[in-house]
Amino acid sequence: MKPVIALVGRPNVGKSTLFNRLTKTRDAIVADFAGLTRDRHYGNGKLGPHEYIVIDTGGFEPDAVTGIYKEMARQTRQAVAESDVVIFVVDARAGISAQDYDIANYLRKLGKPTVLAANKAEGLPEGTQVSEFFELGLGEMLAVSASHGQGMRMLVDLALAPLNLPDPAEETEQEDPAVIKLAVAGRPNVGKSTLINTWLGEERLVAFDLPGTTRDAISVPFEHAEQKFELIDTAGLRRKGKVFEAIEKFSVVKTLQAIENANVVLLLLDATQGVTDQDAHIAGYILESGRAVVLAVNKWDAVDAYQRELLQRSIETRLGFLKFASIHHISAIKRQGLGPVWKSIIQAHASANRKMSTPVLTRLLMEAVQFQQPQRSGVFRPKLRYAHQGGMNPPIVIIHGNSLDHVTESYKRYLEGRIRKEFDLVGTPLRIQLKSSV
Ligand code: GDP
Ligand code: GDP
Repeated sequence: MKPVIALVGRPNVGKSTLFNRLTKTRDAIVADFAGLTRDRHYGNGKLGPHEYIVIDTGGFEPDAVTGIYKEMARQTRQAVAESDVVIFVVDARAGISAQDYDIANYLRKLGKPTVLAANKAEGLPEGTQVSEFFELGLGEMLAVSASHGQGMRMLVDLALAPLNLPDPAEETEQEDPAVIKLAVAGRPNVGKSTLINTWLGEERLVAFDLPGTTRDAISVPFEHAEQKFELIDTAGLRRKGKVFEAIEKFSVVKTLQAIENANVVLLLLDATQGVTDQDAHIAGYILESGRAVVLAVNKWDAVDAYQRELLQRSIETRLGFLKFASIHHISAIKRQGLGPVWKSIIQAHASANRKMSTPVLTRLLMEAVQFQQPQRSGVFRPKLRYAHQGGMNPPIVIIHGNSLDHVTESYKRYLEGRIRKEFDLVGTPLRIQLKSSV
């Protein structure tokens, strides 16, 4: 399970800037991001050996002073409750404010591991940057500059140190590659528990023993069509005896962790509601984490032809960035359309783990270039030389050549299309990285 870091602090101290630094994605994601909202407060990150989840507590109402305060307190409490450690961000230039005292008091009482980040410290005389903040009586302090990217790695190291995380190299969790770990994700009320209980009620799903799974853990091993699955800790659900129950509170962190721990995510939408912001956010997390995904629009029984048409369009516009995924229309209650969902889950898993040989990739690249040259940009004409696979799950293709900085997004999408077709990649993100030697 990835540790969760909450960024806490009054407005304008640089939390969003810091958030962007800590969650900077390493791989260029080749996807149509239109419709993927950038306004988000949860993100994955990795600086140093450990991956983590960051929660930003930004997003205040700018007017009504009391309103700000209330909203801040609410957001802060929620983020802190869901986190393992807190980074308390203050403004090294502005010094301590009354709000800083309040937040510090609150954090001290909570007793969560806390690191104070004195931001905007670039260019300030050393020694003076953090000294003032001793008064807040919190543990570790560090001068950083989010906008200049100074002190970022050390900040993460300091924040994660109290958690005593195991060395990732030694964390050799024995995984059975024959078992597909499946997460069912979706907003409250889309029908997750109904679907899972429908599945588990079917005799064909034979429970089998998986070492290390306890009775209490929300993790159910089962078999379907001779394929072993493990339904992993599914966000927003609780197991009660033999059935699953939806719990009241939706937790973004739990959803993120479920997505992270899965091989394939089944994203459920509610046909009666259309695609909401929350759906788009969850979809964005799935794409970002690189997981294979299958879309299922549930409650198809409850909508008429007109609503179906509208829904189709809202999926295209709002979830366009997941167009590599299969879409199914199902009714969990009426047990309709469920068979093809299994096929797509298995297909997505196989696609995510596809092996692509260097000779085949390189031949494919040459043919693609011959069919359509990359555009010249000024004096530069990108030259694509060869390609090899850089990883699986999701598949990564690394292309080598010259002047590759000038390859356009649309050309990358063209290449993505060719690679997907050649290797029959359905339901998995595909990442393309360009490496220029000149
Ligand atoms: P938030 O309200 O806490 O999320 O703060 P923002 O991230 O929106 O930043 C508020 C302002 O501080 C913006 O104008 C940023 O450009 C600026 N800022 C953020 N980090 C730094 C920094 O390290 N140094 C300086 N000088 N300015 C910064
Ligand atoms: P969860 O919060 O995602 O686990 O959602 P639930 O499984 O609790 O379902 C929420 C509501 O939607 C319940 O009232 C279900 O009876 C209803 N529901 C679930 N699946 C279907 C379906 O296929 N068709 C219709 N019409 N209603 C459904």
